[in-house]
Amino acid sequence: AKQNGRNNVQFFCPSHAVVAQAQMAIERKLKDAVRGNAFHLHYQPIFELGSRRVVSVEALLRWNAADIGPDRFIPVAESTGMINSIGKWLLREAARQSRSWREAGLPPVPISVNVSVIEFREQGFARRLLGMLAEEGLKPDAIQVEVTETAIMENIDHAAAVLFELKQAGVKILLDDFGTGYSSLAYLVKLPLNKLKIDKTFILPSPHSSASQAVTNAMVALGRALGLEVVAEGVESEGLLDFVQGQGCHQAQGFHLAPPMSGAAFCEWYLDGHA
Ligand code: C2E
Ligand code: CA
Ligand code: CA
Ligand code: CA
Repeated sequence: AKQNGRNNVQFFCPSHAVVAQAQMAIERKLKDAVRGNAFHLHYQPIFELGSRRVVSVEALLRWNAADIGPDRFIPVAESTGMINSIGKWLLREAARQSRSWREAGLPPVPISVNVSVIEFREQGFARRLLGMLAEEGLKPDAIQVEVTETAIMENIDHAAAVLFELKQAGVKILLDDFGTGYSSLAYLVKLPLNKLKIDKTFILPSPHSSASQAVTNAMVALGRALGLEVVAEGVESEGLLDFVQGQGCHQAQGFHLAPPMSGAAFCEWYLDGHA
């Protein structure tokens, strides 16, 4: 048995070796991708439920020509530190996209960006983001930041300082994957959050699960009581749209409403009147 960390003993077995090899193959290819800048962003619209207007988009990372999603390659990018350079490129890319949509005649559509715990813990993250926005000639509300509970709980004092700096400058903050981490709710009241996103793992089973419905209901109530905007993720059907609207969510995102699309496709879709 190989000792891994303190209380985590891993037993070597063939399937482990296969997994490790696959991981290393991804790692090698990812290194080339980072060097060659082989990524692009897709943008998924987020709708206000009452008006059905698009209120923002979420930037989602895609690896060019690789048939592998961010759920699989981002953990590798995180464990190797490559996420830092990917993240820097990504913020710049989102800022440029925002400018080019404006030039194409779109009204301002804030772009919500996922920030990894690895990037979030870096000293000067907020300052760099704000500096980059200024360089690109954008207002702070052009970019919103999605952080997970896990990133916040890692170092709550650091998180609070970073979030206050961003909020003070006018960058909106969204708590992502709400309910999936282990954390006390006490921190919620202390942090300058604007929105709370309920993870799709709670939304998707809701039509068939009264437990899921109860949990969603409680999370929406908590978000609303704290004065936050509540966003539902994973709205895949008309039934789920009715459900999240009935629960009192303010905004929704999901394949039923609109899929993630390229920057050019989003522009066309938007200008075509979409709804
Ligand atoms: P997330 O932040 O929870 O992003 C939402 C995911 O749900 C996206 O998957 C999106 O395509 C998917 N989705 C949207 N609508 C629906 C729906 O109706 N049904 C279902 N089943 N799924 C839906 P994607 O793009 O594969 O991203 C997966 C995860 O990878 C993201 O989860 C996020 O944690 C991470 N990720 C993606 N882009 C970035 C990035 O730029 N930076 C970082 N750090 N993480 C990212
Ligand atoms: Ca997200
Ligand atoms: Ca996530
Ligand atoms: Ca999620």
